[in-house]
Amino acid sequence: MPGPDPILLEQRKQLPIWKGRQSLVRAVVENDTVVILGETGSGKTTQVPQFLLESNEFGNGTIAVTQPRKVAAISLATRVAAEQCSTVGALVGYSIRFDDQSSAETKIKYLTDGMLVRELLSDPLLSRYNVIIVDEAHERTLRTDLVLSALKNIQKERNTKRTDRKGKGPETVKNCPLKIIIMSATLDAQKFSKFFNNARILYVEGRQHPVKVFYAETPQADYVESALRTFFQIHIGHGPGDVLIFLSGQEEIESLEKSITLYAEHIPEGESKVLVCPLYAGLPQHQQNRIFMPAPPATRKVVLATNIAETSITIPGIRFVIDTGVAKEKSYILQQNRGSASHLHNSEPVVPDGPGFCFRLYTEDGFRQFRDSATPEIQRCNLTFAVLQLKTLGQDPETTEFLDPPSPETIQESLIVLFGLEALDHTGNVTSIGREMSNFPLDPPLARALLASKTLGCTSETLIILSVLSASSKLLFEPSADKREEIADARNTFRHSSGDHLTLLNVVRAYGEVRSGSGSDGGNRGAKEWCARHHVNERAVKEAERIEKQLKETCRRVGVDPDATCGEDTDAVLKSLLMGIFQNCAILQPDGTYRQTLGRLPVKIHPSSTLFTRKVPAIVYDELVFTSNTYARTVSAIEQAWLLDLPVNRRHD
Ligand code: ADP
Ligand code: MG
Repeated sequence: MPGPDPILLEQRKQLPIWKGRQSLVRAVVENDTVVILGETGSGKTTQVPQFLLESNEFGNGTIAVTQPRKVAAISLATRVAAEQCSTVGALVGYSIRFDDQSSAETKIKYLTDGMLVRELLSDPLLSRYNVIIVDEAHERTLRTDLVLSALKNIQKERNTKRTDRKGKGPETVKNCPLKIIIMSATLDAQKFSKFFNNARILYVEGRQHPVKVFYAETPQADYVESALRTFFQIHIGHGPGDVLIFLSGQEEIESLEKSITLYAEHIPEGESKVLVCPLYAGLPQHQQNRIFMPAPPATRKVVLATNIAETSITIPGIRFVIDTGVAKEKSYILQQNRGSASHLHNSEPVVPDGPGFCFRLYTEDGFRQFRDSATPEIQRCNLTFAVLQLKTLGQDPETTEFLDPPSPETIQESLIVLFGLEALDHTGNVTSIGREMSNFPLDPPLARALLASKTLGCTSETLIILSVLSASSKLLFEPSADKREEIADARNTFRHSSGDHLTLLNVVRAYGEVRSGSGSDGGNRGAKEWCARHHVNERAVKEAERIEKQLKETCRRVGVDPDATCGEDTDAVLKSLLMGIFQNCAILQPDGTYRQTLGRLPVKIHPSSTLFTRKVPAIVYDELVFTSNTYARTVSAIEQAWLLDLPVNRRHD
């Protein structure tokens, strides 16, 4: 084993958590579950797994560390691998959906909580792990809550001595008991402790750096404007140090980026320059990585981020944080259509690297109000995935122990959807279709579409479309307000008469052909130029290709032929999609508007759609976008008769 990196070791020794490492290891040896509370930057996420590994007290299994966000899993694995003088995927690895960088050697694995939920299906006791660390537990994502519920059961199962069936005396179900560690940066430790039978709570003492918090004196009407002002006050009035600004989403980030850049042009010669780095989930990875690079000399870096950066990533060099108090939370009403909405949220102090300042653009009273109003995701989002998961694991969602139980109505709605997808039968048991669906790392509706494509003989086509819809940026054409017409022209090159889904298929296939072509207009370079010429977002296409590859492997494993093709009979593809996303349909009305089949609400076709200027009798769409109107995005024309054929509309007599 290579051992720790000596230079990084010196840095690690400065972290607040370092002093307590021996008592921490002892506490984990003595208790099955431990809750660790410590402020951001104190060293919990990077150090605790290494302390446990180096202690050699916890058997030969792997230590899992869950993260709510993919970016965090990758950046933490990279950092800890460096601290161990190792490469990612060896001693230290990560696993996120569609990207597993771990091996038999891996002893510390950072994975998204969603991945751990998936692993439950193949390994219900999570027997490959001896320690499971649930990190950022205070964020209370749906998957974190599912993990906590499952872990409580698993620990009971694994750590109880039992008499075996033949009465031969007690035996431990697993030789090595499961240790659970819950880590959190806020003061809600009691709740986690209580859930795990009054688990021991450890507090990490000391802050690495002092942080001074300022609140707004009065509520701010326009926080983007206010953030802009605050930023330039810092830039002009304070010494060196980078700035991190939290905003609610991509549009806001782009708008503030424009304003900052505009004002920065007027900074007098000789003063520090400004470098703006945006950070949001849909941003290409290489641009996300820019936030970790030091700014050039005499330049102040300002990171504009959604809450994907909050609490889980430490960005070196940040000394000033401007917290607008808004962040995107998934919300149930919109989540049905996989959209999202803005809410106030519980925003915790982010500790900058070095003595720092936090400017909150809201009042101290406001802060208290939204920290009390934060609702765990499980109580406000669509539970279709969670309910299918629990049912597949043989648990009853209505009686499972949750930290905060979801409402019975939401569970009911999910049961109905799953019934419509034929994943559950009328008694609520998982069907063979439901079981097959849970093999795929896809939303239940998309997994259902994939299975339908097997019956209809069009898996090759359907897989590509589902891959695009599952990618983090499903927009294959660069969205740019300045070049709207050029982009519409480019899109028309690939246009399929039925609408957007098959147009996406055409784009991905055309790209694949260019790239596999030889000569100057083929290969990787040719493909890049081709994308630029056609305004195609190459990163999105590549991501879709990677997802397709993974889904193909799953298909082969479970006996679905991934290459089955329907040729020109593309109706089969749309029918397959419809089997899964039948909730996202609308019918043309006599007055020329569309109304959703469920709920009868009006919906318009999004201007980016190839169907924008056409009227067709019925449509199926990927998602709704809410602005002043409700728009359906990624839309295809279907026949009304197909709707009647759906299982939900068939009469069961
Ligand atoms: P906590 O989990 O308590 O918030 P971490 O273990 O994530 O703390 O971080 C501890 C320290 O490790 C940070 O203050 C920072 O110095 C360093 N660090 C963490 N992640 C990275 C990274 N991706 N790149 C560089 N340094 C990092
Ligand atoms: Mg952490």
